[in-house]
Amino acid sequence: MNQNLYSLLAEHFPKNPAAPCMILPDGRVWTYGDVGRASGRIANLIVALGLEPGDRVAAQVEKTPEALVLYLAAIRAGMVFLPLNPAYQRHELEYFLKDAKPGLFVCRPQMRALADELAAKAGVPKGCTVLELDDAGRGSLIDAATPQADTFATVARNTSDLAAILYTSGTTGRSKGAMLSHRNLAHNAKTLHAYWHFQPGDVLLHMLPTFHVHGLFVACHCVLLNGSAMFFEPKFDAARATSLLSQCTVFMGVPTFYVRLLLDPGFDRDSCRNVRLFVSGSAPLLKETFDEFKARAGHTILERYGMTEGGMFTSNPYEGERRGGTVGFPLPGTELRIVGADGAVVKPGAVGHIQVKGDNVFVGYWGMPEKTKEEFTADGYFKTGDMGSVDADGYVAISGRSKDLVITGGLNVYPKEIEELIDAMPGVVESAVIGLPHPDFGEAVTAVVVRQNNTVGRALTESGIIAAIKDSLANFKVPKWVYLVDQLPRNAMGKVQKNILRETYSPMTSR
Ligand code: AMP
Repeated sequence: MNQNLYSLLAEHFPKNPAAPCMILPDGRVWTYGDVGRASGRIANLIVALGLEPGDRVAAQVEKTPEALVLYLAAIRAGMVFLPLNPAYQRHELEYFLKDAKPGLFVCRPQMRALADELAAKAGVPKGCTVLELDDAGRGSLIDAATPQADTFATVARNTSDLAAILYTSGTTGRSKGAMLSHRNLAHNAKTLHAYWHFQPGDVLLHMLPTFHVHGLFVACHCVLLNGSAMFFEPKFDAARATSLLSQCTVFMGVPTFYVRLLLDPGFDRDSCRNVRLFVSGSAPLLKETFDEFKARAGHTILERYGMTEGGMFTSNPYEGERRGGTVGFPLPGTELRIVGADGAVVKPGAVGHIQVKGDNVFVGYWGMPEKTKEEFTADGYFKTGDMGSVDADGYVAISGRSKDLVITGGLNVYPKEIEELIDAMPGVVESAVIGLPHPDFGEAVTAVVVRQNNTVGRALTESGIIAAIKDSLANFKVPKWVYLVDQLPRNAMGKVQKNILRETYSPMTSR
Protein backbone atom coordinates (compact mmCIF):
# COMPACT_ATOMS: atom_id res chain seq x y z
CA MET A 1 0.00 0.00 0.00
CA ASN A 2 1.19 3.53 -0.74
CA GLN A 3 2.30 5.08 2.56
CA ASN A 4 2.56 8.58 1.12
CA LEU A 5 0.95 10.95 3.63
CA TYR A 6 -0.85 12.70 0.77
CA SER A 7 -2.67 9.45 -0.08
CA LEU A 8 -3.85 9.15 3.51
CA LEU A 9 -5.11 12.74 3.53
CA ALA A 10 -6.71 12.45 0.07
CA GLU A 11 -8.59 9.31 1.13
CA HIS A 12 -10.41 11.53 3.60
CA PHE A 13 -11.15 14.40 1.23
CA PRO A 14 -14.92 14.75 0.82
CA LYS A 15 -16.56 12.82 -2.04
CA ASN A 16 -18.01 16.11 -3.26
CA PRO A 17 -15.13 18.06 -4.85
CA ALA A 18 -17.08 21.29 -4.36
CA ALA A 19 -16.78 20.95 -0.56
CA PRO A 20 -14.87 23.92 0.91
CA CYS A 21 -11.34 23.42 2.19
CA MET A 22 -9.96 26.96 2.68
CA ILE A 23 -12.09 30.08 3.14
CA LEU A 24 -10.06 33.22 2.49
CA PRO A 25 -10.36 36.69 4.05
CA ASP A 26 -11.97 38.07 0.86
CA GLY A 27 -14.60 35.31 0.90
CA ARG A 28 -13.03 33.26 -1.90
CA VAL A 29 -13.14 29.54 -1.31
CA TRP A 30 -10.67 26.84 -2.26
CA THR A 31 -12.61 23.62 -2.60
CA TYR A 32 -11.15 20.16 -2.08
CA GLY A 33 -11.37 19.77 -5.86
CA ASP A 34 -9.25 22.92 -6.28
CA VAL A 35 -6.68 21.59 -3.80
CA GLY A 36 -6.45 18.24 -5.60
CA ARG A 37 -6.06 19.83 -9.03
CA ALA A 38 -3.63 22.58 -8.00
CA SER A 39 -1.44 20.14 -6.08
CA GLY A 40 -1.53 17.87 -9.15
CA ARG A 41 -0.31 20.68 -11.40
CA ILE A 42 2.51 21.68 -9.06
CA ALA A 43 3.51 18.03 -8.53
CA ASN A 44 3.70 17.60 -12.32
CA LEU A 45 5.82 20.75 -12.54
CA ILE A 46 8.21 19.54 -9.83
CA VAL A 47 8.75 16.31 -11.75
CA ALA A 48 9.11 18.21 -15.06
CA LEU A 49 11.86 20.32 -13.44
CA GLY A 50 13.85 17.11 -13.05
CA LEU A 51 13.49 16.59 -9.32
CA GLU A 52 13.39 13.01 -8.14
CA PRO A 53 11.76 11.45 -5.08
CA GLY A 54 13.76 12.34 -1.98
CA ASP A 55 14.91 15.70 -3.41
CA ARG A 56 14.18 18.73 -1.27
CA VAL A 57 11.71 21.49 -2.10
CA ALA A 58 12.41 24.59 -0.02
CA ALA A 59 9.88 27.39 0.35
CA GLN A 60 10.27 30.77 1.97
CA VAL A 61 6.87 32.25 1.21
CA GLU A 62 3.97 34.02 2.89
CA LYS A 63 0.99 32.05 4.13
CA THR A 64 -1.38 31.58 1.19
CA PRO A 65 -3.50 28.67 -0.08
CA GLU A 66 -0.93 28.24 -2.86
CA ALA A 67 1.81 27.84 -0.24
CA LEU A 68 -0.14 25.06 1.48
CA VAL A 69 -0.80 23.44 -1.87
CA LEU A 70 2.94 23.62 -2.66
CA TYR A 71 3.57 21.59 0.50
CA LEU A 72 0.96 19.02 -0.53
CA ALA A 73 2.34 18.88 -4.08
CA ALA A 74 5.88 18.33 -2.81
CA ILE A 75 4.97 15.35 -0.63
CA ARG A 76 2.63 14.05 -3.32
CA ALA A 77 5.57 13.98 -5.75
CA GLY A 78 7.69 12.15 -3.17
CA MET A 79 9.85 15.18 -2.36
CA VAL A 80 10.95 16.40 1.03
CA PHE A 81 9.36 19.73 1.95
CA LEU A 82 11.43 22.37 3.69
CA PRO A 83 9.41 25.35 4.95
CA LEU A 84 11.40 28.43 5.96
CA ASN A 85 10.32 31.32 8.14
CA PRO A 86 9.93 34.45 5.95
CA ALA A 87 11.84 36.37 8.63
CA TYR A 88 15.10 34.57 7.73
CA GLN A 89 17.69 36.77 6.09
CA ARG A 90 20.78 36.16 3.93
CA HIS A 91 22.94 34.52 6.58
CA GLU A 92 20.29 32.00 7.67
CA LEU A 93 19.09 31.26 4.13
CA GLU A 94 22.61 30.62 2.93
CA TYR A 95 23.06 28.05 5.68
CA PHE A 96 19.74 26.29 5.04
CA LEU A 97 20.25 26.06 1.27
CA LYS A 98 23.84 24.82 1.57
CA ASP A 99 22.79 22.32 4.23
CA ALA A 100 19.63 20.92 2.63
CA LYS A 101 20.64 21.32 -1.05
CA PRO A 102 17.12 21.65 -2.46
CA GLY A 103 16.39 21.06 -6.15
CA LEU A 104 13.70 23.75 -6.04
CA PHE A 105 13.58 26.92 -3.97
CA VAL A 106 10.34 28.91 -4.00
CA CYS A 107 10.90 32.44 -2.75
CA ARG A 108 9.04 35.75 -2.53
CA PRO A 109 9.62 38.15 -5.45
CA GLN A 110 11.48 40.65 -3.25
CA MET A 111 14.02 37.92 -2.39
CA ARG A 112 14.60 36.82 -5.97
CA ALA A 113 18.08 38.27 -6.52
CA LEU A 114 19.33 36.92 -3.22
CA ALA A 115 17.64 33.55 -3.83
CA ASP A 116 19.37 33.21 -7.22
CA GLU A 117 22.74 34.06 -5.72
CA LEU A 118 22.36 31.67 -2.77
CA ALA A 119 20.85 28.86 -4.87
CA ALA A 120 23.86 29.03 -7.20
CA LYS A 121 26.23 28.91 -4.21
CA ALA A 122 24.38 26.07 -2.45
CA GLY A 123 26.34 23.38 -4.28
CA VAL A 124 23.31 21.33 -5.38
CA PRO A 125 24.76 18.71 -7.77
CA LYS A 126 21.84 18.91 -10.26
CA GLY A 127 21.30 22.63 -9.66
CA CYS A 128 18.56 24.44 -7.79
CA THR A 129 15.67 26.03 -9.71
CA VAL A 130 14.30 29.24 -8.21
CA LEU A 131 10.61 30.14 -8.65
CA GLU A 132 8.50 32.87 -7.08
CA LEU A 133 5.27 32.98 -5.13
CA ASP A 134 3.95 36.27 -3.76
CA ASP A 135 1.61 37.08 -0.89
CA ALA A 136 -1.36 37.05 -3.29
CA GLY A 137 -0.51 33.53 -4.43
CA ARG A 138 0.88 34.65 -7.81
CA GLY A 139 4.29 34.24 -9.39
CA SER A 140 6.42 32.11 -11.68
CA LEU A 141 5.63 28.96 -9.67
CA ILE A 142 1.96 29.28 -10.56
CA ASP A 143 2.65 30.45 -14.13
CA ALA A 144 4.85 27.42 -14.76
CA ALA A 145 2.34 25.05 -13.14
CA THR A 146 -0.73 26.35 -15.01
CA PRO A 147 -0.13 24.41 -18.27
CA GLN A 148 0.54 21.18 -16.35
CA ALA A 149 -2.05 18.40 -16.05
CA ASP A 150 -4.44 18.50 -13.08
CA THR A 151 -4.06 14.83 -12.38
CA PHE A 152 -1.02 13.26 -10.81
CA ALA A 153 -0.49 9.73 -9.54
CA THR A 154 0.77 10.22 -6.00
CA VAL A 155 4.30 8.79 -5.80
CA ALA A 156 4.56 5.63 -3.69
CA ARG A 157 6.51 6.11 -0.48
CA ASN A 158 7.47 3.85 2.38
CA THR A 159 6.65 4.86 5.93
CA SER A 160 10.32 5.59 6.64
CA ASP A 161 10.79 7.87 3.61
CA LEU A 162 11.15 11.55 4.47
CA ALA A 163 8.26 13.95 3.96
CA ALA A 164 9.69 17.11 5.49
CA ILE A 165 12.71 18.72 7.09
CA LEU A 166 11.96 21.44 9.61
CA TYR A 167 14.84 23.46 10.98
CA THR A 168 14.70 24.00 14.72
CA SER A 169 14.81 27.61 15.82
CA GLY A 170 18.41 27.05 16.96
CA THR A 171 18.67 29.63 19.71
CA THR A 172 21.98 28.09 20.69
CA GLY A 173 24.46 26.71 18.20
CA ARG A 174 23.66 25.59 14.68
CA SER A 175 20.06 25.23 13.63
CA LYS A 176 19.35 21.55 13.02
CA GLY A 177 17.11 20.07 10.33
CA ALA A 178 14.64 17.65 11.94
CA MET A 179 13.87 14.89 9.42
CA LEU A 180 10.23 13.83 9.56
CA SER A 181 9.02 10.71 7.77
CA HIS A 182 5.64 9.95 6.27
CA ARG A 183 5.12 7.63 9.26
CA ASN A 184 5.90 10.40 11.76
CA LEU A 185 3.43 12.85 10.22
CA ALA A 186 0.69 10.31 9.53
CA HIS A 187 0.88 8.89 13.04
CA ASN A 188 0.56 12.30 14.67
CA ALA A 189 -2.20 13.43 12.30
CA LYS A 190 -4.34 10.35 12.98
CA THR A 191 -3.71 10.50 16.73
CA LEU A 192 -4.68 14.16 17.10
CA HIS A 193 -7.66 13.86 14.77
CA ALA A 194 -9.06 11.10 16.96
CA TYR A 195 -7.97 12.47 20.36
CA TRP A 196 -9.51 15.87 19.76
CA HIS A 197 -12.71 14.31 18.37
CA PHE A 198 -12.66 15.92 14.94
CA GLN A 199 -16.09 15.40 13.42
CA PRO A 200 -18.07 16.14 10.27
CA GLY A 201 -18.94 19.81 9.96
CA ASP A 202 -16.01 21.07 12.03
CA VAL A 203 -14.65 24.45 10.94
CA LEU A 204 -11.20 25.51 12.13
CA LEU A 205 -10.00 29.07 12.46
CA HIS A 206 -6.42 28.96 11.14
CA MET A 207 -4.33 31.99 12.14
CA LEU A 208 -0.97 30.30 12.76
CA PRO A 209 2.05 30.55 10.45
CA THR A 210 2.53 27.62 8.09
CA PHE A 211 6.32 27.26 8.29
CA HIS A 212 6.07 25.63 11.71
CA VAL A 213 4.85 22.27 13.02
CA HIS A 214 1.84 23.83 14.79
CA GLY A 215 0.26 25.62 11.83
CA LEU A 216 1.42 23.32 9.03
CA PHE A 217 1.05 19.87 10.54
CA VAL A 218 -1.09 19.96 13.68
CA ALA A 219 -3.76 22.34 12.34
CA CYS A 220 -3.80 21.54 8.60
CA HIS A 221 -3.51 17.77 8.94
CA CYS A 222 -6.46 17.64 11.36
CA VAL A 223 -8.58 19.62 8.89
CA LEU A 224 -7.49 17.69 5.79
CA LEU A 225 -7.89 14.34 7.50
CA ASN A 226 -11.35 15.46 8.50
CA GLY A 227 -12.18 16.66 4.99
CA SER A 228 -13.60 19.82 6.50
CA ALA A 229 -13.17 23.57 6.10
CA MET A 230 -10.92 26.16 7.68
CA PHE A 231 -10.85 29.93 7.64
CA PHE A 232 -7.34 30.45 6.32
CA GLU A 233 -6.14 33.82 7.59
CA PRO A 234 -2.69 35.27 6.83
CA LYS A 235 -1.99 36.03 10.49
CA PHE A 236 -3.49 36.38 13.93
CA ASP A 237 -5.63 39.42 14.62
CA ALA A 238 -7.74 39.50 17.77
CA ALA A 239 -10.62 41.55 16.38
CA ARG A 240 -10.75 39.42 13.24
CA ALA A 241 -10.66 36.23 15.34
CA THR A 242 -13.48 37.54 17.49
CA SER A 243 -15.60 38.23 14.41
CA LEU A 244 -14.90 34.84 12.77
CA LEU A 245 -15.12 32.56 15.79
CA SER A 246 -18.93 32.40 15.79
CA GLN A 247 -18.66 30.50 12.49
CA CYS A 248 -16.00 28.11 13.84
CA THR A 249 -15.93 25.00 16.00
CA VAL A 250 -12.17 24.67 16.63
CA PHE A 251 -9.40 27.19 17.28
CA MET A 252 -5.70 26.47 17.67
CA GLY A 253 -3.32 29.08 18.95
CA VAL A 254 -0.13 29.91 20.78
CA PRO A 255 -0.64 31.41 24.26
CA THR A 256 -0.13 34.96 22.97
CA PHE A 257 -3.27 34.58 20.83
CA TYR A 258 -5.30 33.86 23.97
CA VAL A 259 -3.76 36.76 25.84
CA ARG A 260 -4.65 39.08 22.96
CA LEU A 261 -8.17 37.66 22.59
CA LEU A 262 -8.75 38.49 26.26
CA LEU A 263 -7.57 42.05 25.62
CA ASP A 264 -10.17 42.43 22.85
CA PRO A 265 -13.21 44.13 24.43
CA GLY A 266 -15.53 42.51 21.87
CA PHE A 267 -14.52 38.95 22.78
CA ASP A 268 -17.09 37.17 24.96
CA ARG A 269 -19.12 33.99 25.33
CA ASP A 270 -21.28 34.92 22.40
CA SER A 271 -18.27 35.24 20.06
CA CYS A 272 -17.40 31.60 20.66
CA ARG A 273 -20.90 30.16 21.01
CA ASN A 274 -20.25 27.52 18.32
CA VAL A 275 -16.69 26.64 19.31
CA ARG A 276 -16.24 23.18 20.82
CA LEU A 277 -12.46 23.22 21.29
CA PHE A 278 -9.72 25.76 21.98
CA VAL A 279 -6.22 24.27 21.78
CA SER A 280 -3.05 25.99 23.01
CA GLY A 281 0.57 25.04 22.60
CA SER A 282 4.11 25.84 21.39
CA ALA A 283 4.81 27.81 24.57
CA PRO A 284 3.54 27.68 28.16
CA LEU A 285 0.03 28.96 28.76
CA LEU A 286 -0.10 30.99 31.96
CA LYS A 287 -2.49 29.65 34.59
CA GLU A 288 -4.02 33.14 34.80
CA THR A 289 -4.79 33.10 31.07
CA PHE A 290 -6.32 29.63 31.40
CA ASP A 291 -8.51 30.81 34.34
CA GLU A 292 -9.44 34.15 32.78
CA PHE A 293 -10.42 32.48 29.53
CA LYS A 294 -12.65 30.05 31.39
CA ALA A 295 -14.39 32.90 33.18
CA ARG A 296 -14.74 35.12 30.13
CA ALA A 297 -15.39 32.64 27.31
CA GLY A 298 -16.82 29.74 29.30
CA HIS A 299 -14.23 27.43 27.68
CA THR A 300 -11.49 25.35 29.23
CA ILE A 301 -8.48 25.67 26.93
CA LEU A 302 -6.92 22.31 26.07
CA GLU A 303 -3.15 22.65 26.41
CA ARG A 304 -0.87 20.24 24.61
CA TYR A 305 2.90 19.85 24.32
CA GLY A 306 5.18 18.88 21.52
CA MET A 307 8.04 20.01 19.35
CA THR A 308 9.39 20.07 15.82
CA GLU A 309 11.21 16.79 16.43
CA GLY A 310 8.07 14.74 16.92
CA GLY A 311 4.87 16.70 16.60
CA MET A 312 2.69 16.35 19.63
CA PHE A 313 3.71 14.28 22.65
CA THR A 314 1.03 15.04 25.25
CA SER A 315 -2.42 16.56 25.44
CA ASN A 316 -4.97 17.39 28.06
CA PRO A 317 -8.00 15.17 27.62
CA TYR A 318 -10.91 16.03 25.34
CA GLU A 319 -13.29 14.54 27.85
CA GLY A 320 -12.18 14.61 31.46
CA GLU A 321 -10.40 17.27 33.44
CA ARG A 322 -8.17 19.72 31.59
CA ARG A 323 -5.73 20.97 34.18
CA GLY A 324 -4.29 24.47 33.84
CA GLY A 325 -0.51 24.59 34.16
CA THR A 326 -0.21 21.04 32.81
CA VAL A 327 0.05 19.63 29.31
CA GLY A 328 -2.03 16.55 30.08
CA PHE A 329 -1.18 12.94 29.34
CA PRO A 330 1.14 11.25 26.85
CA LEU A 331 -0.82 10.77 23.61
CA PRO A 332 -1.69 7.24 22.50
CA GLY A 333 1.41 5.76 20.89
CA THR A 334 3.82 8.05 22.74
CA GLU A 335 5.83 6.74 25.65
CA LEU A 336 7.07 9.48 27.95
CA ARG A 337 9.38 9.24 30.95
CA ILE A 338 11.12 11.64 33.28
CA VAL A 339 14.72 10.83 34.15
CA GLY A 340 17.29 12.31 36.48
CA ALA A 341 20.84 13.32 35.60
CA ASP A 342 21.86 9.64 36.03
CA GLY A 343 19.31 8.50 33.44
CA ALA A 344 17.13 6.69 36.00
CA VAL A 345 13.38 7.31 36.06
CA VAL A 346 12.50 9.73 38.88
CA LYS A 347 9.68 9.43 41.43
CA PRO A 348 6.20 10.80 40.56
CA GLY A 349 6.15 14.56 41.01
CA ALA A 350 9.93 15.02 40.77
CA VAL A 351 11.33 17.27 38.04
CA GLY A 352 13.68 15.70 35.53
CA HIS A 353 14.50 15.44 31.83
CA ILE A 354 11.62 14.52 29.53
CA GLN A 355 12.28 11.67 27.11
CA VAL A 356 9.84 10.34 24.51
CA LYS A 357 9.50 7.41 22.14
CA GLY A 358 6.90 6.64 19.47
CA ASP A 359 6.09 6.56 15.78
CA ASN A 360 5.78 10.34 15.80
CA VAL A 361 9.38 10.88 16.94
CA PHE A 362 11.60 12.11 14.13
CA VAL A 363 14.18 10.12 12.22
CA GLY A 364 17.17 12.30 13.11
CA TYR A 365 18.93 15.54 12.26
CA TRP A 366 19.73 16.07 8.59
CA GLY A 367 23.42 15.50 7.93
CA MET A 368 24.22 15.19 11.66
CA PRO A 369 24.48 11.48 12.52
CA GLU A 370 26.63 12.16 15.57
CA LYS A 371 24.27 14.79 16.97
CA THR A 372 21.34 12.44 16.31
CA LYS A 373 23.06 9.66 18.23
CA GLU A 374 23.71 11.96 21.18
CA GLU A 375 20.04 12.93 21.39
CA PHE A 376 18.73 9.37 21.64
CA THR A 377 19.19 6.95 24.54
CA ALA A 378 20.42 3.39 24.02
CA ASP A 379 16.82 2.16 24.38
CA GLY A 380 15.50 4.50 21.70
CA TYR A 381 14.08 7.44 23.67
CA PHE A 382 14.55 10.97 22.33
CA LYS A 383 15.96 13.47 24.82
CA THR A 384 13.61 16.40 24.33
CA GLY A 385 15.76 18.94 26.17
CA ASP A 386 12.70 19.89 28.21
CA MET A 387 12.40 19.42 31.94
CA GLY A 388 9.18 18.46 33.62
CA SER A 389 7.34 16.17 35.97
CA VAL A 390 4.43 13.74 35.98
CA ASP A 391 2.06 13.94 38.96
CA ALA A 392 0.35 11.05 40.70
CA ASP A 393 -2.64 11.37 38.33
CA GLY A 394 -0.41 11.17 35.26
CA TYR A 395 -0.57 14.83 34.22
CA VAL A 396 2.67 16.12 32.72
CA ALA A 397 3.89 19.61 33.64
CA ILE A 398 6.70 21.39 31.78
CA SER A 399 9.31 23.26 33.82
CA GLY A 400 11.17 24.70 30.81
CA ARG A 401 14.12 23.91 28.57
CA SER A 402 17.01 22.25 30.38
CA LYS A 403 19.35 24.90 28.97
CA ASP A 404 17.20 27.53 30.73
CA LEU A 405 17.69 25.81 34.08
CA VAL A 406 19.52 28.12 36.45
CA ILE A 407 22.33 26.59 38.48
CA THR A 408 23.24 28.87 41.33
CA GLY A 409 25.80 27.89 43.95
CA GLY A 410 25.50 24.35 42.58
CA LEU A 411 21.74 24.22 43.19
CA ASN A 412 19.10 23.82 40.49
CA VAL A 413 16.44 26.48 40.13
CA TYR A 414 13.53 25.85 37.76
CA PRO A 415 12.53 29.24 36.34
CA LYS A 416 8.86 28.34 36.17
CA GLU A 417 8.52 28.06 39.95
CA ILE A 418 9.66 31.65 40.40
CA GLU A 419 7.84 32.95 37.34
CA GLU A 420 4.57 31.59 38.69
CA LEU A 421 5.03 33.43 41.98
CA ILE A 422 5.88 36.72 40.29
CA ASP A 423 3.08 36.38 37.72
CA ALA A 424 0.57 35.94 40.54
CA MET A 425 1.51 39.34 42.04
CA PRO A 426 -0.99 42.15 41.50
CA GLY A 427 0.23 44.52 38.81
CA VAL A 428 2.38 41.94 36.96
CA VAL A 429 1.62 40.96 33.36
CA GLU A 430 4.27 38.25 33.06
CA SER A 431 7.87 37.45 33.84
CA ALA A 432 10.86 35.47 32.67
CA VAL A 433 13.48 34.08 35.03
CA ILE A 434 16.99 33.51 33.70
CA GLY A 435 20.45 32.78 35.06
CA LEU A 436 23.15 35.41 34.61
CA PRO A 437 26.87 34.99 35.27
CA HIS A 438 27.77 35.72 38.87
CA PRO A 439 31.28 35.66 40.37
CA ASP A 440 30.31 33.75 43.53
CA PHE A 441 27.30 31.68 42.52
CA GLY A 442 28.19 30.78 38.94
CA GLU A 443 24.77 31.99 37.92
CA ALA A 444 22.45 34.40 39.68
CA VAL A 445 18.67 34.04 39.50
CA THR A 446 17.39 37.06 37.61
CA ALA A 447 13.80 38.06 36.94
CA VAL A 448 12.69 40.17 33.99
CA VAL A 449 9.22 41.47 34.75
CA VAL A 450 6.52 43.15 32.66
CA ARG A 451 4.29 45.45 34.75
CA GLN A 452 0.68 46.30 34.05
CA ASN A 453 0.22 49.83 32.84
CA ASN A 454 -1.99 50.88 35.78
CA THR A 455 -1.47 52.34 39.23
CA VAL A 456 -0.69 48.98 40.85
CA GLY A 457 1.69 48.01 38.05
CA ARG A 458 3.53 51.30 37.95
CA ALA A 459 4.03 51.20 41.72
CA LEU A 460 5.98 47.91 41.49
CA THR A 461 9.70 48.19 42.08
CA GLU A 462 12.62 45.79 41.82
CA SER A 463 13.07 45.57 45.58
CA GLY A 464 9.30 45.37 46.13
CA ILE A 465 9.07 42.31 43.89
CA ILE A 466 11.94 40.59 45.71
CA ALA A 467 10.39 41.42 49.09
CA ALA A 468 6.99 40.07 48.03
CA ILE A 469 8.21 36.60 47.03
CA LYS A 470 11.14 36.20 49.46
CA ASP A 471 9.16 34.40 52.13
CA SER A 472 7.75 31.84 49.71
CA LEU A 473 11.13 30.67 48.42
CA ALA A 474 14.33 29.11 49.65
CA ASN A 475 16.95 31.81 49.80
CA PHE A 476 18.99 30.54 46.83
CA LYS A 477 15.93 30.79 44.56
CA VAL A 478 15.20 34.43 45.38
CA PRO A 479 16.15 36.63 42.40
CA LYS A 480 19.35 38.57 42.97
CA TRP A 481 18.41 40.99 40.24
CA VAL A 482 15.08 42.16 38.85
CA TYR A 483 14.63 44.15 35.64
CA LEU A 484 11.38 45.92 34.78
CA VAL A 485 10.58 45.98 31.05
CA ASP A 486 7.69 46.86 28.75
CA GLN A 487 7.58 43.49 27.03
CA LEU A 488 9.46 40.21 26.67
CA PRO A 489 11.14 39.30 23.38
CA ARG A 490 9.19 36.53 21.63
CA ASN A 491 9.68 34.54 18.43
CA ALA A 492 6.98 33.94 15.81
CA MET A 493 5.49 31.11 17.87
CA GLY A 494 5.15 33.23 20.97
CA LYS A 495 8.09 31.66 22.79
CA VAL A 496 9.99 33.95 25.12
CA GLN A 497 13.53 34.23 23.76
CA LYS A 498 15.52 33.75 26.95
CA ASN A 499 18.77 33.70 24.99
CA ILE A 500 18.09 37.33 24.00
CA LEU A 501 17.36 38.24 27.62
CA ARG A 502 20.62 36.60 28.73
CA GLU A 503 22.55 38.47 26.04
CA THR A 504 20.85 41.75 26.95
CA TYR A 505 21.35 41.60 30.70
CA SER A 506 24.67 39.73 31.06
CA PRO A 507 26.78 42.82 30.32
CA MET A 508 24.83 44.75 32.96
CA THR A 509 25.69 42.24 35.66
CA SER A 510 29.43 42.52 35.05
CA ARG A 511 29.34 46.16 36.19
P1 AMP B 1 9.14 23.93 18.52
O1 AMP B 1 10.07 22.86 18.09
O2 AMP B 1 9.41 25.27 17.92
O3 AMP B 1 7.71 23.54 18.37
O4 AMP B 1 9.39 24.15 20.08
C1 AMP B 1 9.19 23.08 20.94
C2 AMP B 1 9.38 23.51 22.36
O5 AMP B 1 8.35 24.42 22.74
C3 AMP B 1 9.27 22.37 23.32
O6 AMP B 1 10.46 21.63 23.40
C4 AMP B 1 8.91 23.10 24.61
O7 AMP B 1 10.06 23.64 25.21
C5 AMP B 1 8.04 24.24 24.11
N1 AMP B 1 6.61 23.94 24.24
C6 AMP B 1 5.76 23.46 23.32
N2 AMP B 1 4.51 23.34 23.83
C7 AMP B 1 4.59 23.74 25.12
C8 AMP B 1 3.66 23.86 26.20
N3 AMP B 1 2.38 23.57 26.04
N4 AMP B 1 4.12 24.31 27.39
C9 AMP B 1 5.42 24.63 27.56
N5 AMP B 1 6.34 24.55 26.60
C10 AMP B 1 5.94 24.12 25.39
